[in-house]
Amino acid sequence: MGLGPDARCEGCGASVTGGTAGCLAIFEEMQARSYTDADLGAVHRLRVDVYALQHPDPYCISAKSFAAHLTGVCAALEHHAADPVNAAVMRWLSTNPLIRKPRLPQARGTLTIADVSAAPENHEAAVMAWARSAWRAYAPFEGLARRWIADALNTR
Ligand SMILES: [Zn+2]
Repeated sequence: MGLGPDARCEGCGASVTGGTAGCLAIFEEMQARSYTDADLGAVHRLRVDVYALQHPDPYCISAKSFAAHLTGVCAALEHHAADPVNAAVMRWLSTNPLIRKPRLPQARGTLTIADVSAAPENHEAAVMAWARSAWRAYAPFEGLARRWIADALNTR
C-alpha cells in the first residue's frame, strides 16, 4: 500500500491514505480478515452492501447489483433475520425481474469505512452505524427497497 498523503476517496469521500485505492484496501483487508475473525465475519455481507452503496461505480452499475446491495442494507436494518431475505432477493433477481436503477445520490453518508476502521473494539456496532449513515443518504429509495424485498418474498 502507498504511503502518500491522505486523499479523498472518489466513492465515499473518506480522507484516507491512497484515496480511492486506499479506501478499497481497507475494505478488502476487512473482508479477508472476516474469514478468521468472528466479529468481522458476523457482518461480512453487510460490509459488502454498505461499501457498494458508497462506491456505486463499480459496484452498482447494473440495476440488479444495485437492488442486491440496497435491499441487503434494508434487510440488515429492518428485518430480524437478513439472511433469508437476502436469499429470497437473490432468487428473485435470478428470474430477471423488470427493475430500473434510479439516479443515485452524490452524497452517500457522513460515515465511511475509515470510521469503521477507527473503531476496531466494537466492529459490529461501527458497521451498523455506518450502514444507517448510508441508508439515510439513500432515504429516497427506502420505499423502493421495501417493495423489491416484498416482491422477492412473494415470488418464492
Ligand atoms: Zn471510499
